[in-house]
Amino acid sequence: MIRMKVEGAFCGPRVFCDECGRQIENAANGVYLWKTRGLSKDPAEVFFACHYGSTKRRCHDVLEAKHDAHSWEHLDRFPLYLGNALFTGPERTMAALRRRWKKAQEMVLLMADA
Ligand SMILES: [Zn+2]
Repeated sequence: MIRMKVEGAFCGPRVFCDECGRQIENAANGVYLWKTRGLSKDPAEVFFACHYGSTKRRCHDVLEAKHDAHSWEHLDRFPLYLGNALFTGPERTMAALRRRWKKAQEMVLLMADA
């Protein structure tokens, strides 16, 4: 799940594991899951899992079994796919994407200095 988290003087979205509740601090340790069995044209609910791959916890396996979700993707691709779906027309150009990315990087650096 996505929650807003206050860090110092800043507040920003963070991804938390839907199984253990802990923050997914590195996209390499996370996946997102959704149900595709019986999927119609209706949007499918997305679950998040962490401690994937080389980590000791297997929240991914637990969530997959609990929710009968058998489709998943690496978490580091989620913002790219979501960003691609959120912007159309001139907002979808590489120049617009770079401007937004630069602004987001500046905010992250400000948060790190705070
Ligand atoms: Zn977890």
